[in-house]
Amino acid sequence: MEKKYQRIRGTRDIYGEEFDKFIFIFEKSKKVCELYGYNFIITPTFEVKELFEKSTGETTDIVEKEMYVFEDLKGRKLALRPEGTPPVLRAIVEENIELPSKFSYFLNMFRYEKPQKGRYREFYQLGAEAVGYKEPYIDLEILILAEDILKEINIKDYVFEINSVGCLEDRKKYSEYLKEELKEKIKNFCSNCQQRYERNPFRILDCKIDREKIKFLKPLKKFLCNECLNHHEKLLNLLLKENFNFIENPFIVRGLDYYTKTAFEIISKKLGAQDALGGGGRYDYLMKIIGGIDTPGIGFAFGVERLMIAMENYEKKEKNLIYVIYVSEKEKEEAIKWVRKLREKGIYSDMEWDTKSLKSQLRKADKKKAKWVLIIGEEELRKNTYRLKNMIKGEEILSQNPFEILEKEINSTYLQKNN
Ligand code: AMP
Repeated sequence: MEKKYQRIRGTRDIYGEEFDKFIFIFEKSKKVCELYGYNFIITPTFEVKELFEKSTGETTDIVEKEMYVFEDLKGRKLALRPEGTPPVLRAIVEENIELPSKFSYFLNMFRYEKPQKGRYREFYQLGAEAVGYKEPYIDLEILILAEDILKEINIKDYVFEINSVGCLEDRKKYSEYLKEELKEKIKNFCSNCQQRYERNPFRILDCKIDREKIKFLKPLKKFLCNECLNHHEKLLNLLLKENFNFIENPFIVRGLDYYTKTAFEIISKKLGAQDALGGGGRYDYLMKIIGGIDTPGIGFAFGVERLMIAMENYEKKEKNLIYVIYVSEKEKEEAIKWVRKLREKGIYSDMEWDTKSLKSQLRKADKKKAKWVLIIGEEELRKNTYRLKNMIKGEEILSQNPFEILEKEINSTYLQKNN
């Protein structure tokens, strides 16, 4: 049957086990980020559109084709946040936050892309930014932080691909080289690349369709100035000393205009066509563009939905629910008292709030995967006893003190407060 209202294409409802996974990623990554000195920030869901036009870049796909833009009632041109870096830098400048400074975020992003597995129009990113450090040691920290997050959430199948995209001067030279080399060939490339050739030839390297056709090109590394080359080699050396696993991929340019020097992607075979778990890089000019002091920065972002797909052996936290059952309506108020008493002790408990038959309550307890049911009957109440049924073993125990039984019978993970 056609439902009266439907989700907007490319958006998702996250609930049940998916929700638990989502929060698991948040909790684990929060722990790791804070360990490294990256504290979380929440920026507004919308910002002035110009912030992204000027920073993410007017020739990027994100700004050109994918932003959700609207005018508010005062005619201000606003955009739903398509990525996290510009808002974090805007906040640093606006709030006069002392530099160097490190932040992380777990925020929803909005991009009008063609939805498919792992690609949505509203999705979450887990990101980190380190602003105000120029030497490659922070590049190393950012890469290790990203890997530690993956380890903490038990993702094993990934590869770090690293490149240097140089400075503005290097990019300019490389763009000119690309234009010259592709002058005759570009007509055989996809329509997207033909547009990129005119507006931003650098992005042709990013094309997934024409990958083979660009293999003859010299890599950008050959066009790096001394400073950018030194930075890159120093970082590669630091990574080798750390035994950090990575490959050099000279074709990474990233979809955003502001990257300089280090650029990287984290790829996983588990993901299918949308194979990037995350990506990041340096943005040494971005603070100035946003109106702050001229200071460098580096960051990365993971796609949370993609982390959820790639997670292995996700251990579901057992909730150990106690379902409280009343034999007849007369015992219902006593049952309500018990539900509250159990919750006060930090024990998950619930009951059937609208009066239902004993059979129907038992069925519900089963459906909710309750580990125990506490049955309250007239006769038992008279004798001041309770019937406790272990739903897994099917055994029943009569007791005057069900708490004692629960504490004894169920192992320590049972009591959530002690977890
Ligand atoms: P970007 O901000 O484009 O560098 O993307 C960083 C990461 O965010 C990507 O590697 C993906 O994991 C994730 N991501 C980007 N776009 C989407 C999308 N439309 N849906 C889901 N995840 C996305």
